[in-house]
Amino acid sequence: MSRAADVWRVVLDMPLRRPFDYLAPKENCVTRITPGMRVRVPFGGQRLIGIATQAASESAIAPERLKPILDVLDTAPVLDESLRTLLMWAADYYHHPIGEVFAAALPKALRGGGGALALSRRWIANAAGRAAAQSGEPRRAPQQRRILQHLLQNDAGAGASEVSVLFPGAAVRALAQRGWIELTDAPAPAAVAGPAPTLGSGGFELNAEQRAAVDAVNGAFGGFAAFLLHGITGSGKTEVYLHLVERALSAGRGALILVPEIGLTPQLVGRFRARFAAPLAVLHSGLGDRERLQAWRAAFTSEARIVLGTRSAVFAPLGSLGLVIVDEEHDPSFKQHEGGFRYSARDLAVVRAQQAGVPIVLGSATPAFETLYNVSAGRYQRLSLPRRTAQAQAPRIALIDLRTSAVHCGIAAPAIEAIERHLRAQGQVLVFLNRRGYAPTLLCTACGWSSVCRECDARMTVHQAAARLRCHHCGAEEPLPQRCAQCGFAARPVGQGTERIEEKLAELFPEVARVRLDRDAVRKKGDMEAAMQRMASGEARILIGTQMVTKGHDFPNVTLVVVLNADRGLFSTDFRAPERLAQTIVQVAGRAGRGEKPGEVLIQTEFPDHPLLKSLLAEGYDGFARAALLERQQASWPPYTRLAAVRTSAKSAAAALKFLTEARRIARAPARVRLLGPVPAAMAKRAGRYHAQLLIESRERGALQRFLTRWIEEIEQLPSGRHVRWALDVDPLELF
Ligand code: ADP
Ligand code: ZN
Ligand code: ZN
Repeated sequence: MSRAADVWRVVLDMPLRRPFDYLAPKENCVTRITPGMRVRVPFGGQRLIGIATQAASESAIAPERLKPILDVLDTAPVLDESLRTLLMWAADYYHHPIGEVFAAALPKALRGGGGALALSRRWIANAAGRAAAQSGEPRRAPQQRRILQHLLQNDAGAGASEVSVLFPGAAVRALAQRGWIELTDAPAPAAVAGPAPTLGSGGFELNAEQRAAVDAVNGAFGGFAAFLLHGITGSGKTEVYLHLVERALSAGRGALILVPEIGLTPQLVGRFRARFAAPLAVLHSGLGDRERLQAWRAAFTSEARIVLGTRSAVFAPLGSLGLVIVDEEHDPSFKQHEGGFRYSARDLAVVRAQQAGVPIVLGSATPAFETLYNVSAGRYQRLSLPRRTAQAQAPRIALIDLRTSAVHCGIAAPAIEAIERHLRAQGQVLVFLNRRGYAPTLLCTACGWSSVCRECDARMTVHQAAARLRCHHCGAEEPLPQRCAQCGFAARPVGQGTERIEEKLAELFPEVARVRLDRDAVRKKGDMEAAMQRMASGEARILIGTQMVTKGHDFPNVTLVVVLNADRGLFSTDFRAPERLAQTIVQVAGRAGRGEKPGEVLIQTEFPDHPLLKSLLAEGYDGFARAALLERQQASWPPYTRLAAVRTSAKSAAAALKFLTEARRIARAPARVRLLGPVPAAMAKRAGRYHAQLLIESRERGALQRFLTRWIEEIEQLPSGRHVRWALDVDPLELF
């Protein structure tokens, strides 16, 4: 048995579910390390960096077999107690190895041993300088004495540039020559937390609903409370966030704001920068390692009191968190659905707010059905912003029956008429189609050959302008063939993508300039801004776009929105497909008539009598959600049950299934936990690998969690696991 507090538990970035024990470093052991600091330890033949989490009085490992910690990398914990609590909660809930969970919370540069604090050139007074000052030196040089006093007031000294501004260079050099002060690379002291100044309001009064929302959340400061801020795009949600952040800052606390990847626009960042004098740390997946480290450090030192970021920013260090905001909370990009550690940043944000005892605001025009359920269960309080600030009327929505209309290249005659009418009235038009490229298929009408991807169970998309066939699932590409690969007959593109719709609109309205927004048209920085600018200036008046147009961007002069195809969301094996469909329609419709002109929305469908479409038109998003939630309750889907999925991929379909079959066989599930499957994924082959899944469902979260804890450890031992990639997904968002 090892002696008291001689042992440290260290979490290493490895797929193992437990910490490792190490001996504290020899000299003044326990005092130097505090939980949450990085340490370097021997492991196998390597040296690894881990996080010391806990001092222990004993170890299950014999003392002579314990190895010592080699090095302590930090002077302050890089993961403070509140973050560690959150991460441990996440490791438990998502059943993921703690080391990999900790690693997800730290920038790569820190995991590699980089400094947690930025170093800068600083003058510090050394021991000789201190002794000299105590004996009243330097007597005859008042300038030098002032400098020495200035540096002695702060252990971290003063920045070299600051000193050069404040004091004459000759006096500084003289002190250095006397050996009393030194120039070193040292971390700047942490910023002093205090009320941060704002740069003034947006220049207008909040309307009554905004006021009520701000008041409600303000009233909750000082404890945990969750709010849904439900307001359509343009209703003034961001304005509410800005007011709440101001409140948090003036109380000397920080604010964490999460946005979906695509919602983090320069405009949004600009609005925060324009409002607050306090520096802002922006964290997103497009940052390089250095930029990410800088943003992390800014938050860590409290230099930045506002952190604005995408998914992984939920783990950002913030000294004294005062408020959490999740904008567009329904957005699927908050769920990490690849790799090992699959978490929901939205859900973890709620947990973080709860643990920190601060309010959280979930904002959306189209809240997730889970969130609406939490509202009806009384867990979240709903705050509504029902009207648009700049415009009084909601857009008119109507269906176009594709079965009874003449259709030209995917656009029905009534839609073409409407486009013409709006263009004549000087309006702008948005045509929405969630499929990029020219056509989804290349087909030979003579022999039936089509452009199937070699690596996937999917067709390759025709990209006419680039003259390529591309698979949108694995990225495979080849030149666009002119003739059928099988019989040599001419091959034809079948169906529509945005590129083809643009071509058709150019043919119909040759004199009107167009803009296309999809991943092919917007490739590099600035493309998006240029496109938005062409619409804003009125130079272009037709916008053709995919999902990309639904998020965050303002097109105030769009008066007509045409949704070309709503039907794919109506019939799907995924129980969330109707939710996504309604969200997309409402979000796209929200682009219409944001200026003074009223908007019109036309939805093309072959199923105008579908009950879900009808409920959406008659009762709006809320009515649709009620109907769809009732269906989920009857079918025992979330949020009425809890779900987890084990997913596999392997070189053969059989291997992908075999592992899951064995996993199911060894599962001793209690009666309250049901296993469904395994089944091959709907698109079983993707990028040359075969995918399958096994679902685990229960009405009780506790029962499901207890079962998973035991079972995951057992299936980790399955020999067939070596031939597959597998991952557990708790609360999966997509089923396939
Ligand atoms: P959302 O975040 O819901 O899309 P915003 O906060 O961006 O809405 O507001 C939409 C537009 O209305 C913005 O240009 C904003 O400056 C403006 N706005 C917001 N609140 C008000 C208000 N109370 N009075 C006037 N204009 C407002
Ligand atoms: Zn052919
Ligand atoms: Zn493919």
